[in-house]
Amino acid sequence: MFESLSAEIIAIGSELLAPDRTDTNSLWLTEQLNRLGIEVKLKTIVGDDDARLEETIKDAARRSKVVITTGGLGPTEDDITRKITARALGRRLLLDEVVLAEIRQRFQSFGVTMPERNSRQAMVIEDAEVLPNPNGTAPGMFLDHNGTAIVLLPGPPRELKPMFENHVAAKLAGRAGSLRVVRRMLRVAGMGESAVDEKIAPVYSQYDNPVTTILFNKSEIEIHLTARGRTEKEANDLLDRLSAQIEERLGNAVFSFGGETMEQVVGMKLALGGYTLSVAESCTGGLLAQRLTSVPGSSKYFIEGVVTYANDAKTRALGVEPILLLEHGAVSGPVAEAMAEGMRQRAGTDFALSITGIAGPEGGTEEKPVGTVFIALADEVETKHRKFTLPGDRNLVRWRASQAALDMLRRKLL
Ligand code: ATP
Ligand code: MG
Repeated sequence: MFESLSAEIIAIGSELLAPDRTDTNSLWLTEQLNRLGIEVKLKTIVGDDDARLEETIKDAARRSKVVITTGGLGPTEDDITRKITARALGRRLLLDEVVLAEIRQRFQSFGVTMPERNSRQAMVIEDAEVLPNPNGTAPGMFLDHNGTAIVLLPGPPRELKPMFENHVAAKLAGRAGSLRVVRRMLRVAGMGESAVDEKIAPVYSQYDNPVTTILFNKSEIEIHLTARGRTEKEANDLLDRLSAQIEERLGNAVFSFGGETMEQVVGMKLALGGYTLSVAESCTGGLLAQRLTSVPGSSKYFIEGVVTYANDAKTRALGVEPILLLEHGAVSGPVAEAMAEGMRQRAGTDFALSITGIAGPEGGTEEKPVGTVFIALADEVETKHRKFTLPGDRNLVRWRASQAALDMLRRKLL
């Protein structure tokens, strides 16, 4: 019942096929189109190649109700979008005197005469509406081709974005009717992908709308919900209902409902409670402190972090007894707890977290394989540790250790 308008995006430019330039325009446009209730079903990146581009535009105009191209509207020989779009649609390309005068005027305002080749940018596809470009010389175009909206936008994001917002969004909204698409992302910690799916599949599989996708991302599970409704409110109500049911099934494992990161969520809870935190790290080498301090305003609650890699550093900086290190090894529960306690005393904070583990690839033993990580949390009342066996390479083990530490504190603050 909620059939949405289908769109496709064509990003044009050989540089976008090379590794050093990324097509970000289509990502931005997708977000904007989704907001209007228009679904992007395909995107294509085409180099500056007449034949390939002509084919792509012909196909797009046939199968989609909205086609947006970006780039290739410049004045140079390799800017082929105008010419090839006209050819693909079987329309003429006509010189627009008004546009030409405007481009000339723009050059004059900078005190230069317009290079002759820029007159190309005043060539407009037959029956297309010209979209002004106050941030550059190449105007955009909007035309209807057998019921399909074809939109030509310039490549530079600072030209494309205002042009879309000011001249395209409203036109497309009219075509989309009042259908709205709203997305939401829930984040889950401390559970695997299949465990999450097992718990929530019975709930989400009852709905065609919202659509649910489960994605794995480093050390957390993302649950993406996409709802369609006649209004934004209707779509949001559908999301509220499903996300409440999901939360009921997953409980505290869901740590984020609006896309917030783990460090943001922990930071918010610390700030709210007026608590302070310090961290002592070994195998994560400062990653935990880095993540915590990446949040603006973290100085309200984050006091200090130390990286104690060597045994004697753990003793010197945190007061870890050498006998503990000798008896249990640096990677052990007692040492993790001593690190957290020492850190908490040293910094005078409400909470202290510590991490000690084996990130690999070397250093694992039968008893303590690579990925063995001990994490401790100390507060005024008690110090507790947990042992984790984290999968993945060195980077992933380090990331997951920092995530597990943050999650331990988050659960404490619930
Ligand atoms: P100009 O008049 O500046 O030549 P144009 O419409 O011809 O505009 P391009 O020449 O294709 O645009 O691209 C100009 C610049 O815009 C590129 O160098 C790149 O930095 C940026 N750009 C182009 N396409 C994209 C894209 N899809 N995503 C992000 N940036 C892009
Ligand atoms: Mg160009």
